Amino acid sequence: MAEETVFGKIVSGEIPVEKLVETDRVIAFPDIAPQAPVHILVIPKTTEYADVTELAAADPELLAELVSVAQQLAHEHADGNYRLVFNKGASAGQTVFHVHAHVLAGGLTESSL
Ligand code: AMP
Repeated sequence: MAEETVFGKIVSGEIPVEKLVETDRVIAFPDIAPQAPVHILVIPKTTEYADVTELAAADPELLAELVSVAQQLAHEHADGNYRLVFNKGASAGQTVFHVHAHVLAGGLTESSL
């Protein structure tokens, strides 16, 4: 079984967050250390997938739902445009091994993330 991560604790409710979107399979909440005017994380509730490569291979529909929620958030919190970042692996900057999309929006500059 995968090691429990901070996002597993968010899904279980052990760590409270402001839920901006919640569906049966996905939740979205603000990043605790924002790198852009809008910086929201979208994660699946399942703890099965450590990164986007695993998720895409096993459940592309769930990956598509993360993208759909990202679009919804960009409409609600910015002008509808957004940058979507998945870090895969420690040397690429991944620190939490529960797949998550960074949704960045609102006055992005080329230097953002
Ligand atoms: P990554 O470096 O791609 O693994 O991204 C992990 C992200 O999770 C970072 O941007 C952190 O700021 C964010 N993060 C870590 N703990 C929390 C938390 N309790 N609530 C919200 N965001 C968090």
